[in-house]
Amino acid sequence: MTDVRAAARDASARIAACEAKGTHAFLAWSEAALLAQAEAMAASPAAGAGALSGEVVAVKDVIADATFPTTCGSRILEGWRSPFEATAVRRLREAGALVAGKTACDEFAMGSSTEWCAFGPARNPVDPSRVPGGSSGGSAAAVAAGAVTMALGSETGGSVRQPAAFCGVVGIKPTYGRVSRYGLVAFGSSLDQIGTFGRDVTSAARLLAAISGRDDRDGTTLDRIPLGEPGPVAASLAGTVIGVPREYFPEGLHAGVHAATRRALERLKDLGAEIRGVSLPHTKYAVPTYYIVAPAEASSNLARYDGVRYGLRDGGASDVRAMYRATRGRGFGAEVRRRILLGTYVLSAGYYDAYYRKAQRVRELIRADFARVFAAGVHALFTPTTPTPAFKFGENLADPIAMYLSDVYVCTANLAWVPALSLPIGRDQGLPIGGQLIGAMEGEGTIVRIAQALEHSLDATAEVR
Ligand code: GLN
Repeated sequence: MTDVRAAARDASARIAACEAKGTHAFLAWSEAALLAQAEAMAASPAAGAGALSGEVVAVKDVIADATFPTTCGSRILEGWRSPFEATAVRRLREAGALVAGKTACDEFAMGSSTEWCAFGPARNPVDPSRVPGGSSGGSAAAVAAGAVTMALGSETGGSVRQPAAFCGVVGIKPTYGRVSRYGLVAFGSSLDQIGTFGRDVTSAARLLAAISGRDDRDGTTLDRIPLGEPGPVAASLAGTVIGVPREYFPEGLHAGVHAATRRALERLKDLGAEIRGVSLPHTKYAVPTYYIVAPAEASSNLARYDGVRYGLRDGGASDVRAMYRATRGRGFGAEVRRRILLGTYVLSAGYYDAYYRKAQRVRELIRADFARVFAAGVHALFTPTTPTPAFKFGENLADPIAMYLSDVYVCTANLAWVPALSLPIGRDQGLPIGGQLIGAMEGEGTIVRIAQALEHSLDATAEVR
């Protein structure tokens, strides 16, 4: 039986060391809160028996928990405390884990670097001059720095996998509906899903298993039994067909990313997998489609921050309309305002058909691309997670399109609802490179099994060229 008090003390020391280095992975955490949770856990009759007993898990600050404020990295929710706990958080506590604290993220999960966090960005522990990725960058950095072994993030368009790749850790985005979103602050509701981070494939998959399963409080959850714990590492992948979509390996792909993915594909072949070239022809429309659908849904979801129901209220205004305007103008940062404007525009009467309806149609074509490939006998797809390793602070900040393009290989899985994961597959000049496995609907077990075998067969900290 794990000594949960010792685990809490140990985690506090590791988090303090991580933050003393200036990582800023956490927006809120405290040793006292950890020790109090440990006392309560130790006193419960089920102590030590849960699947995550003794684990300390960091939680992205867009997920409500009862111990710490939930700010979503936004001034509009500064200091706001949720009156209830997310189902995912409740489940990890029920499995015996402690919540380490809340991690830094781009405001309302909109971003790819944490530079849009209103309380300052997190830094990449591998190279502090570089971003940890986003929007769940604080969670990825906390795991990469060794502060925790597991963390929760959220994905609307790659926000777990992209920071996992940049920080050299594992990130899983499950099938849409696999994990309850009750208590996850809504961004793009047809895309949002809670995901998990781990030091290795097995730890990320264990955390996912603990939080998965139907929830009466979220009508979009799949009515399936929860995912099982990952099995032992498979010695062979004989009989597994891995598709390599040519659209994810363009002419001029970053040389380090190319070398790492080539090496990983060699390893998969050595393990007995069949490597098959495939095509997902609508991939080129994924980023434009995502950046219509996600802002449209965000503009509607964020209407609730009006100075009346939650958080910040500008008290100086003379009437209610002026109060809405002043509160939202002051409370939201530049990227969130950009998304609300974009989303309101593409949903407006004159442009709905030209943008939003068209994007919905193209989304269906992207989904059909995946369905066709999986129906033809492919078990999983292998691609780079990101077009480049982690970029430097400021590099993409002035150019929103450049920032959006770092999601080019990850946002497809959110549009198509399929599960996908990123695992470290090598380094280029010291910077981690991620490889992505994309599965068929409900195919988490398959991509986890392949990823475990691949992880076991390569040294992900070795230089690839
Ligand atoms: N980077 C993407 C965006 O800014 C994805 C965000 C996410 O997955 N939450 O919208």
